[in-house]
Amino acid sequence: MKMLIGDQWVDTVEKIDVRNPYNNELVDTVPRASIADVKRAIDSAVQGYKISRNLPVHKRIEILTRTAAIIRDRSDDFARTIATEGSKTIKEARKETGRCINTITISAEEARRIVGETIPFDSAPGSENRVGYYYRFPIGVVGAITPFNDPLNLVAHKLGPAIAAGNSVVLKPATVTPLSALKLAQAFIEAGLPWNVLNVITGYGHEVGDAIVTDPRIRMITFTGGAEAGVEITRKAGLKKIGMELGSNSPVIVLSDCDIDEAVESNVSGAFWAVGQNCIGVQRIYVERGIFPAFEEKFAARTKKMKVGYQLDESTDMGPMITEREAIRVEQWIQEAVAAGAKVIAGGTRTGTLVDPTVLVDLPRGSKLDCQEVFGPVVSLFPVENLEEAIERANEMDYGLHAAIFTRDIGKAFKAIRELDCGGVMINDSTDYRIDMMPFGGIKSSGLGREGIKFALMEMTEPKVVCFNL
Ligand code: NAP
Repeated sequence: MKMLIGDQWVDTVEKIDVRNPYNNELVDTVPRASIADVKRAIDSAVQGYKISRNLPVHKRIEILTRTAAIIRDRSDDFARTIATEGSKTIKEARKETGRCINTITISAEEARRIVGETIPFDSAPGSENRVGYYYRFPIGVVGAITPFNDPLNLVAHKLGPAIAAGNSVVLKPATVTPLSALKLAQAFIEAGLPWNVLNVITGYGHEVGDAIVTDPRIRMITFTGGAEAGVEITRKAGLKKIGMELGSNSPVIVLSDCDIDEAVESNVSGAFWAVGQNCIGVQRIYVERGIFPAFEEKFAARTKKMKVGYQLDESTDMGPMITEREAIRVEQWIQEAVAAGAKVIAGGTRTGTLVDPTVLVDLPRGSKLDCQEVFGPVVSLFPVENLEEAIERANEMDYGLHAAIFTRDIGKAFKAIRELDCGGVMINDSTDYRIDMMPFGGIKSSGLGREGIKFALMEMTEPKVVCFNL
């Protein structure tokens, strides 16, 4: 496929291969953008902003609504693209496609709710004769950088609100999964989005990232990805708005009064969805000691039933990791944990990019699998004495995206809601629960700001005060 700069789909001599992570088959190639290409894309977006800021809201709604309809018409192709260039199974990819349609539809709905309010200027002595209001105006050119693990819907979470707000965009999708993003851009253009408003650069983050991040004409960087790149971008971005959707090693608390079978089912799904390559994937489960043996046994048994294999087979529950390098890293983390005393009660093995869903117990505190984000199919179970200990353990990491608790005790649920340090607490669901309209984001190393269309719209617009002296 080609990238999108200005009013053209652009190719380059040098290409990047896009390969299926299961069998390394070539799926397609994309251009390897240069810094000059990025500059041209930003030039174009500056022109595009002159168009987008003047697009009436009803036009933006029309374009977003048509885009959602085009994705719906092509949902089979979108799902196959997600599952072929990335890790997701075809069943997971269909869900992501449905969510992308929803994200773009909500963006159309929220476009008509970007409102301000009147200001009571006469509340200040001397201002009795003044009247006025504020409204929200688009921020300008938005630089969007996205990860591989939800290659369509996380791009939609940038483009939908940016276009609803009247901004123009330079998008750089993950290099391993650029095709879903390019197909989404095609849908926007076919839906009538004026040229120049959206520009898509395909190229390596370490080669072209700085050119996007440091350009003063870009007024906001909205980034979803790992903490390492997030910190580097924050340091380099200078005086511009920043939205950071980063990772986590999400904790779940399982209390002895809960429905164990439901907790097992929900957390097995939460740990292994998208091969655990999921920013809200379950990584640490703190179980009250009384039910620990039963929980451990059921959790391992349920995990062993998962079928690992080719993403496009309808019967596959879990596909390959995104690259063999990542699979080897996860295998090494497991081996390090085992050498330090952890016990594998399910999985633990790797073949190529396939890592078996893995469950550990007796994981030493302070090991990588405990403190860092594994971003792979590994979950650890820890016995705890009570809720207080579980909350303390949950909070001791430098992440805070989602946390979860399984209990029937409303008092304990509210204590957890109050005391867990994070952006969202799920009660009787795993941490892997999200709908696209809710505020989504984290604290500490999990990020800055919130997505979820209405909330992204706040980040991607600014209030302008208008005051009449009568
Ligand atoms: P990543 O390695 O940080 O890459 C994310 C994006 O940033 C890619 O497009 C990458 O380009 C680009 N990039 C890398 N270094 C850059 C730099 N110095 N300057 C500018 N751009 C740069 O993350 P990933 O492996 O794709 O995704 C996994 C991470 O994303 C996990 O930590 C996960 O938790 C997080 N995540 C967070 C959320 C959330 O909403 N909070 C959602 C999903 C994922 P290349 O592809 O060319 O390297």
